[in-house]
Amino acid sequence: KKQRKQDLLAGLNPQQRQAVLHTGAPVLVVAGAGSGKTRVLTRRIAYLVGERKVHPGSILAITFTNKAAAEMRDRVQELIGNRAKLMWVSTFHSACVRILRSEIGRFNMARTFSIYDDADAKRLMQLVCRDLSLDPKRFPPRAVLNWVSNCKNELVDTDSASSKVSTPLEEGYLAAYKEYQQRLIAANALDFDDLIMTTVHLMQAFPEVREQYRRRFRHVLVDEYQDTNIAQYELIRQLCGHVEDSPAQVEDGPAAAPAELMVVGDSDQSIYAFRGATIRNILDFESDFPGAETILLEQNYRSTQNVLDAANAVISRNQGRTEKRLWSDAGAGDKLVGYVADSEHDEAQFVAGEIDALVDQGKIKYGDVAVFYRTNAQSRAFEEVFVRVGLPYKVVGGVRFYERREIRDAIAYLRAIANRSDDVSVRRILNVPKRGIGDRAEAAVEAYAAEHRISFGDALRHVDEIAGLATRSAKQIASFTAFMDKCERLVADNAPADEVLTTVLQDSGYLAELHASTDPQDETRLENLVELVAVAREFVAAGGTTPLGSGGEGGGLSSLSTEPILATELPPTVETVQAPQDTEPQHRGPRVDPAPADSLFAEGLFALEENSGPSTSSGPVGVGSESVDAGSGSGSILDEVQVGPEADQLTGAEFELGAGAAQPDVSLGAFLERVALVADADQIPDSDGESGGMVTLMTLHTAKGLEFDTVFLGGLEDGIFPHQRALGERAELEEERRLAYVGLTRARKRLYLSRAIVRSAWGAPQHNPPSRFLAEIPVDLIDWRRTEGAVTSWRSSSATSYERERAKDEATARWRNTVGFGSSLPKKKEIPSLQAGDRVLHSVFGMGSVIATSGAGENAKADVDFGSSGVKRLSLRHAPLEKL
Ligand code: ATP
Ligand code: MG
Repeated sequence: KKQRKQDLLAGLNPQQRQAVLHTGAPVLVVAGAGSGKTRVLTRRIAYLVGERKVHPGSILAITFTNKAAAEMRDRVQELIGNRAKLMWVSTFHSACVRILRSEIGRFNMARTFSIYDDADAKRLMQLVCRDLSLDPKRFPPRAVLNWVSNCKNELVDTDSASSKVSTPLEEGYLAAYKEYQQRLIAANALDFDDLIMTTVHLMQAFPEVREQYRRRFRHVLVDEYQDTNIAQYELIRQLCGHVEDSPAQVEDGPAAAPAELMVVGDSDQSIYAFRGATIRNILDFESDFPGAETILLEQNYRSTQNVLDAANAVISRNQGRTEKRLWSDAGAGDKLVGYVADSEHDEAQFVAGEIDALVDQGKIKYGDVAVFYRTNAQSRAFEEVFVRVGLPYKVVGGVRFYERREIRDAIAYLRAIANRSDDVSVRRILNVPKRGIGDRAEAAVEAYAAEHRISFGDALRHVDEIAGLATRSAKQIASFTAFMDKCERLVADNAPADEVLTTVLQDSGYLAELHASTDPQDETRLENLVELVAVAREFVAAGGTTPLGSGGEGGGLSSLSTEPILATELPPTVETVQAPQDTEPQHRGPRVDPAPADSLFAEGLFALEENSGPSTSSGPVGVGSESVDAGSGSGSILDEVQVGPEADQLTGAEFELGAGAAQPDVSLGAFLERVALVADADQIPDSDGESGGMVTLMTLHTAKGLEFDTVFLGGLEDGIFPHQRALGERAELEEERRLAYVGLTRARKRLYLSRAIVRSAWGAPQHNPPSRFLAEIPVDLIDWRRTEGAVTSWRSSSATSYERERAKDEATARWRNTVGFGSSLPKKKEIPSLQAGDRVLHSVFGMGSVIATSGAGENAKADVDFGSSGVKRLSLRHAPLEKL
């Protein structure tokens, strides 16, 4: 036993150990990057369970990276086996969804509520602004949505917002907020911000609910505390029972004692102020939570001293921060490498060349490397070069699998089936595939719904009473409703999620439409849908417990989220750059090969396999070779584990009994929940795989909490990073600097910094000055491989590259001209001749394929599908479009 205790504390320094052993009062661990904060949380959880014999069901841990969550679970799993699954290890959003799924009935909403993601929310807000006749110039839906989001992050509901607005502008925002909220409620839907706010409101409105959860969660642990907003802070307070101003008024006994709370964070890494995060939460921790203690960590275990010195030098320019000098005993290490490129392509070329050289020398594996940039759009240049040179890579974030049109369509079907009041989803699929239900018919239904104060989906049921519907439309609507009813019955009969999905895709005619299409992109769409079916099947096979974890965890959603992006976004050659499937750590789960679309039906991939029903959950199934024990589906624990007043008196055995007896949740609802909460970070590949893995490309924001042996940080130019809009604002500039600090401190051994003299990715060539952050790093820390002088001479001697650049400049200048940015090169443009099926490159939307053409000569137009950017009708005379 003593041995084990030592194991649990092994590899911790005295301060870390103190944090792991701490009992009682709330504790804040503050420390710079790489000092082992996340390790402390992981160990503390293991120690709680292993030594203090805390019941796993009474632990709530909030993490941001999937990797950390997996580590926490694994560690506890080692100690106590499958009971580890009783812990709640999740993001704030997932935890709230689980609470709301059981409690939201108290607010008269159905447990089957839909979760609107950003795109859904924006769509709804567009409808709202249109219906309120808000001037789109003064009230761009995106801006209105941001305003609403800020309110929600500060727990300002429509009532309290009413008392705060004064200007006409704010009144417009408020009107939109009210209408938007009403429509959400009518649609039985919540947006992301609602998930947190509603949970807090629930705790505030129903002390008995709050008390249940307080009795359950005796240990609350929060990582990345610097990025919590007011709503999340309040949620923690409610859950932990440190709400001194409102003692619980419950009838069934004394209120639960406060839970043990540990939060860890670093105010220098606060990078979500734009989402309402406030470092006030860290600064005021001791006054917020009476009796709180603070533990400081000072040793960095991640990086070499050179990397740390650079990061420290940059962050020390921020004002009003507590200086904390991190030290490392890893030695000085290599110097940082600097590179000045002539263009973003040259920059990407340098990065690719360097990675290949290091791999050839056996110094690194692809999986040890990350390339960071400030905005998603910057990934493009890297991707283009990486594809060309055959470097295996993976983009995290950006256009995600779940944002693809066909995937959104399929999910919209599922959501509409689960919740017919979900207007956004129902309207999305009403005429998809094309059923001849046009805009006029939709408007007639909408009018009827408004008049009778019912949802759009319900209005569809009254098709006979709707005025102004063409007979044909009415007939189509009736058959659509009948189809949806059929699917609904399937769900009511407890059909597993994958069966519902396959039925939808087949019987709605969606697959048939894609199948009949000659558009090459539709083939990719079919493949993506096959992937989605595989996701659902895997989810069901695992008894609803499919981990979202990246690599090595049996795949899960994450393993499928990026590959199709490559296949659709880029020319077909891209497929060859992916690591072979059998050596790729992400693909251990059962997965459907991306068969050619034609063979989908022939091979019956859409037919249900014998074993994929709920019955599989009773025996071991081969998902990631982990046998599944019935009943601990993490999506449904709340239903299984009693959270009643007696919960804290239950012994572990009783907890387990309750869990073991329950059925795994493989329902449509459980599946939708999984899908709704897939985060960017869930796509991060596991770098520890045996194969070489893939280079990871991601934005700096997504990089938080991660570490890589070798890091490339590109686009170090004023206007790119720091971002253009931060240049004149001290507060924003300081946030950018914290982002730089996050980026620099991800590197363990090698850190490359680069900038480009000309950057033309966004249509107009920009000559940005070097990033001020570069100048903030002491010169002797950087070994410049190439400087501006070298570039200039190189450029003038390289006529071809120069000409290429100039041709591009002209093309983009023309484009600027047409969209009104001012003129520099008015020149007649040759009109490309295009036909359906052609692939094109647009200087803003990127790669696309022509669906249809119309008009001729000066009036020629083309409908082009740009994948995630949607389908655009473009004038060939004006559009900066190039035929490929
Ligand atoms: P960030 O602020 O970037 O989230 P962090 O403070 O959470 O960083 P960790 O990710 O927990 O830091 O730790 C950084 C690295 O140092 C990890 O690889 C971790 O395993 C290692 N590490 C942490 N503590 C120790 C220790 N006492 N001995 C050896 N290695 C350690
Ligand atoms: Mg961490």
